[in-house]
Amino acid sequence: MTTVMGCITDDFTGATDLASQLARSGVKVSLRIGLPASRPANTAPIEIIALKIRNAPANEAVSQARSALQWLRKAGAQRFFWKYCSTFDSTEDGNIGTVAEALMDELDAAQTIYCPAFPENGRSVYMGNLFVGQQLLDESPMRHHPLTPMRDSNLMRLLEPQVTRPVALIDRTTVARGPDAIRGALEGLQTQGIAHVVLDAVTNTDLELIAQACCSMPLLTGGSAIASPLPRFCLKCGLLSHEKSRKPTRPPAPAGKPKTVVLSGSCSAMTQKQVRAYRARGVPCLQLDPLELAEDGPVAAVGWLKLQDLTQAPLVYATTDAETVRDAQEELGVTRAGDLVEHALAACAQAALEVGARRFIVAGGETSGAVTRALGVTRMEIGEEIAPGVPWTFARTGGRAIALALKSGNFGAESFFTDAQKKLDAA
Ligand code: ADP
Repeated sequence: MTTVMGCITDDFTGATDLASQLARSGVKVSLRIGLPASRPANTAPIEIIALKIRNAPANEAVSQARSALQWLRKAGAQRFFWKYCSTFDSTEDGNIGTVAEALMDELDAAQTIYCPAFPENGRSVYMGNLFVGQQLLDESPMRHHPLTPMRDSNLMRLLEPQVTRPVALIDRTTVARGPDAIRGALEGLQTQGIAHVVLDAVTNTDLELIAQACCSMPLLTGGSAIASPLPRFCLKCGLLSHEKSRKPTRPPAPAGKPKTVVLSGSCSAMTQKQVRAYRARGVPCLQLDPLELAEDGPVAAVGWLKLQDLTQAPLVYATTDAETVRDAQEELGVTRAGDLVEHALAACAQAALEVGARRFIVAGGETSGAVTRALGVTRMEIGEEIAPGVPWTFARTGGRAIALALKSGNFGAESFFTDAQKKLDAA
């Protein structure tokens, strides 16, 4: 089937989040992990390519995003979406704007929008400033993120160093006046040569109005929530047809209790609570220390995991508070500390697969990328949402059917790790 909408995401949890939002429309969504190795075949009306480029140098990120765009164009896509985190996670030389500008050049697009708001998860943008709940982004726990500490909340200031063309804002007073007012403002800005437009959005209604105003632009950028209403508008204007997606192929139900492993490399405030809540249930848990991993590698963790009863869904985690992360980073460097943890959790995932685990619950965007790659997953089907932005996904690897729940740092309730298991058991 010809692809209409082509999406590129900067990490893997972002991709499953986007896929579940788009799948709410009933249109078939296909999710591919990494750049597909072969030419488009067996494609869906909405194709998503998940890249792992959030922390990559800008030139590397641009090159991968361009290749993904080419693949999506070959598949037939006419509208494109560049998805990043709803907290605009970027390193000091962040690449969100750089990638957007490169994609605009490829598509000959004079203008695009930036809309990370995700009201269901408490992310809103007002007067160009990003809020997490009631806190400004740079006053929220995101200021302590191990890889992308966010020390500014103003999207225009964050974006400007990442692009070469001018940036401006369409604020909520215009957004609230509806699609015609938004379109008029975009046209006005375009005549002034403004290529990059940040849009305020506080509620889902704001997102609807923006999506309606912008759905015919060749390239849109933002979080998953602005993408959610897009298929509906594409159905309305006849770009997408109403063929419903079939139910995803879930792994066969195990004979006894399912073998599950929970792997957490996120240090977000919410993941810290989720790990505490899960530990309190008396489940077997192992905490990783990057300093020990630097000395001895992941052998001990893998050995421990292989001895566990996987029907109890043991947890291996490196999740810890900001101060402990900082100590490890001072000793090892930011990248090495992160890599050691990601590598160890990926090795645990492989070992768990070997000894029979078929359900993987993973916390952390980068962590999910490392785990998914280690498991050799290249394509996923999207199942039920466990929490807003976190679906169960189903994949095959080496002839085995597995289920994965990939959770971005701050998503999910405190009981997420048990919520995920209950959701799949109930389905
Ligand atoms: P999130 O979704 O919360 O952003 P990520 O997995 O994307 O989570 O990022 C967390 C990063 O922090 C990963 O690179 C992970 O390896 C690293 N990390 C996890 N635990 C520790 C720790 N104890 N010390 C240093 N770095 C850590």
